[in-house]
Amino acid sequence: MSIPDLSALRALGAAQQPSWPDPEAMDATVARLRRVPPLVFAGECDDLKGKLAAVTRGEAFLLQGGDCAETIDGATADNVRAKLRVLLQMAVVLTYAASVPVVKLGRLAGQYAKPRSSDTETRDGVTLPAYRGDAVNGFDFTPESRRPDPQRLLDVYHSSAATLNLVRAFVTGGYADLRQVHTWNTDFVRSSPVGKRYERLAGEIDRALTFMNAIGADPDAFHRVDFHSSHEALILEYEHALTRIDSRTELPYDVSAHFVWIGERTRQLDGAHVDLLSRIKNPIGVKLGPTATPDEAIALAAKLNPENEPGRLTFITRMGAARIRDVLPELVEKVTAAGVQVAWVCDPMHGNTFEASSGYKTRRFEDVMEEVQGFFDVHRTLGTWPGGLHVELTGDNVTECVGGGESLLEADLVHAYESACDPRLNRVQSLELAFLVAEMLGEAQAAVEG
Ligand code: PEP
Ligand code: MN
Repeated sequence: MSIPDLSALRALGAAQQPSWPDPEAMDATVARLRRVPPLVFAGECDDLKGKLAAVTRGEAFLLQGGDCAETIDGATADNVRAKLRVLLQMAVVLTYAASVPVVKLGRLAGQYAKPRSSDTETRDGVTLPAYRGDAVNGFDFTPESRRPDPQRLLDVYHSSAATLNLVRAFVTGGYADLRQVHTWNTDFVRSSPVGKRYERLAGEIDRALTFMNAIGADPDAFHRVDFHSSHEALILEYEHALTRIDSRTELPYDVSAHFVWIGERTRQLDGAHVDLLSRIKNPIGVKLGPTATPDEAIALAAKLNPENEPGRLTFITRMGAARIRDVLPELVEKVTAAGVQVAWVCDPMHGNTFEASSGYKTRRFEDVMEEVQGFFDVHRTLGTWPGGLHVELTGDNVTECVGGGESLLEADLVHAYESACDPRLNRVQSLELAFLVAEMLGEAQAAVEG
């Protein structure tokens, strides 16, 4: 399938695009981006698609997580390692406690562009363009910083390359070796109740590994993990320039990440985002909020996955704790009845954001858990597979979401609120979430087997 040129794509209409003030500078950037090397290989995208087909069939669970918005300043070795570490810990908890293979997908190495509810931001009577992520403009509230600058697209490309390079080194170079299961549990988290619970689980894994070793079994899977990258495909120029023809198959792939998704605000059936993603061969996702109708979802599936290939399409639902039990059943039921092959994944973050009295955007851990519980319950009732979890998290000790075992209060948010956009679960909250979801997943697994 051919790819329309950029002007044809723009002519379809694309929501949530910045107003780039200098079209010539953009043309030069796009020309440069068309020549940079791919960040991922098409064959890796196919591998991930195969794993997501297993998720679609109910044989595996997807764990997708990372920052709401990566920043170039934040792309340090410590940060990347901390995110990877918490995802590896969560994956071990889910795999071990539920005996289900876990597909690990970072929301990283490209998550630099944000849709916003308003084009502008006003502070003390001064109105400037809203921050749209480091791919577009700067976070500082000055006219210079908030001016969209295409050079940033090249900067985030390089930052993504550096992040992915480090992730690849970690996951194949020994850091992700299962024998490291204790060393992932370092510093502040180790002394927390959930850290102690993790230690016990890691001890059991250690004993199992020692036993396997004693009988001479040492499979490759103990020493490395498969880990893939993903982000929201938002900025047309960037994703279009990084869409390339794979030399093996002659088919187009978006080589900016293994998996890309369409956000809740850009999933218009005839819009540019849906068109571009309908033409690439990567596994892709679409966010579905509480207003998404079954007919819309079925039409999106028909356009994005006309061959109904399992693993190609993931629906990431983000309904909100208060609504999920009302709106998800009809959606899943009708989409399933239409014969659509899709992996269902729960994003329990974006339907549960509110502003604390202090002005910080936050989420309650309890609401996040309530949405996940609703998701599992709905799928259990319908006999469909709860395929995964999409979360905004960090490996650090931030204070952005309230609640959880440490009972963070709204008054605590000020201590370490570091997100450039939405509030993330911190490391302790993320591990707590993993243990709670592992129990639900174990039950879902038992229901399928029983
Ligand atoms: C996000 O994932 O950060 C996001 C903006 O999500 P949504 O499109 O679901 O609102
Ligand atoms: Mn977000």
